[in-house]
Amino acid sequence: MLRLLPWPLLFLLSASLAAQDVRFVPQSRESIERRLDALAVTNSERAATMRKLFHEAGCGERLSDAPVRGAKLPNVVCDLPGERSDTIVVGAHYDKTGAGQGAIDNWAGVSLLPALFESLADEPRNHTFIFIAFAEEESGLLGSHSFVRHLGKDGARRVLAMVNLDSLGLGPTKVGITTSSEHLVRWASAVSRSMKLPLEGMSYDQVGRSDSASFRAKKIPTIDFHSVTTETLAVLHSKEDRLDRIARDDFFESYRLIAAYLALLDTGRAWPAGK
Ligand SMILES: [Zn+2]
Repeated sequence: MLRLLPWPLLFLLSASLAAQDVRFVPQSRESIERRLDALAVTNSERAATMRKLFHEAGCGERLSDAPVRGAKLPNVVCDLPGERSDTIVVGAHYDKTGAGQGAIDNWAGVSLLPALFESLADEPRNHTFIFIAFAEEESGLLGSHSFVRHLGKDGARRVLAMVNLDSLGLGPTKVGITTSSEHLVRWASAVSRSMKLPLEGMSYDQVGRSDSASFRAKKIPTIDFHSVTTETLAVLHSKEDRLDRIARDDFFESYRLIAAYLALLDTGRAWPAGK
């Protein structure tokens, strides 16, 4: 049984964000919702739709399928090379389970990846970004496990952060505290206050429920963005997980928060000294 614990965000920053070097191109609400409404129900259609959305977002030759051992469907990967090989992975699973449409868990999350790519791609980046739509999270984190296994030791060292999006759109943005690295949460909280966008700590008290667990197993710092509360948890994996349950104002705010957050991570200010 999964239980959720509310957790106050205690990390306060004395300095506000200097906005001038946090650069990204905000996408319109219409374009965010168009991708959300492209929801397909079968997992193979979802993989195909992700390819199409990444392609339309301009990923071009940087778009690839990465086979996943033990799974029929691949991870769908879009790279955004930066000046440094140090990498920020932005991941969300595209597979669904249960009788519903898998709109919240996790079409909402994965459909943001092409928009986030587009938000960052216009400016030269300090860090390399990898946007990855994971296969088969629901059957045991297969896609993310395969990705980290292929990184190898050196590759894993180059990943400074893994930003995981799972089950957005049920309400205002939440961050999982017990599964997220403190320094990554602190800067998410700074973005939330600076942009006046809501962000609450809400943690699973059991670890290992989403793709970020595969990265933590390799000692890669992670942060989990979601929108689940004790009241709404039962929607996941049920027939209630439908497009019409998505709170669209909250969902758009989640996009804005995460887009700004990724641009902030790219400045390098979020890393502990020495990184
Ligand atoms: Zn999920």
